[in-house]
Amino acid sequence: MSTHTIQLPPEVQDYLLRTTVRESAALAQVRKATAGLPGARMQTSPEQAQLLGLLVELLGVHRALEIGVYTGYSAVAVAEALPADGRLVACELDQEYARVAGDHLAHAGLSERVDLRVGPALDTLAALPSESGFVAFDLAYIDADKTNYDAYYERCLELVRPGGLIALDNMLWGGSVAEPSDQQDSTQAIRALNQKVGADERVTVSLVPIGDGLLLARRRK
Ligand code: SAH
Ligand code: CA
Repeated sequence: MSTHTIQLPPEVQDYLLRTTVRESAALAQVRKATAGLPGARMQTSPEQAQLLGLLVELLGVHRALEIGVYTGYSAVAVAEALPADGRLVACELDQEYARVAGDHLAHAGLSERVDLRVGPALDTLAALPSESGFVAFDLAYIDADKTNYDAYYERCLELVRPGGLIALDNMLWGGSVAEPSDQQDSTQAIRALNQKVGADERVTVSLVPIGDGLLLARRRK
């Protein structure tokens, strides 16, 4: 979840797309290639990917981190917005998804900017600081398995520089966060994390109701 902004009437969603969403040819191609796949609903929406691109510009991001790549839509959006010498470290568990995303990034001419890491993201993140030439990230986009979100968030607070931004996707989880009868593990994990980040003095926050809910947490200096 979700290829579009939840709770937005379809005609308003269409209007938004028609007027101000600028989707590159490369992104349109990823979206079309993904549309027929199982899991296509997981793809980041165009309007949200555009917001991520704007945040990359605003923060002057050189080093970005993504957790959960799928077929690469958000990775392409972030990589496109980076300067030519910028880098995105993109973590994906599934070998086949990573291969598809790698193809899309290559087709978009962005392979040089993106370092795709296949495997459980927590392992990848744990290994990063000890790599030679490691530099803290300016932006992290968390969009993988929800029960690990708290662990990703804590890791990102160490890997993102003071003043840098952590963006967590699906934090409204289709509205189920506000549905007390929903006691699924993922729903409970997201609820607990909203509660925690909302009160976390280490960050400045805003939960933006775009897509499936994008929680922005800026690491305080
Ligand atoms: N950002 C993507 C959507 C990601 S969907 C886009 O815009 O299209 C969530 C992804 O997280 C899936 O591809 C899934 O394979 C991956 N994932 C799940 N558990 C993971 C883990 N432990 N480590 C890394 N990736 C994981
Ligand atoms: Ca998502």
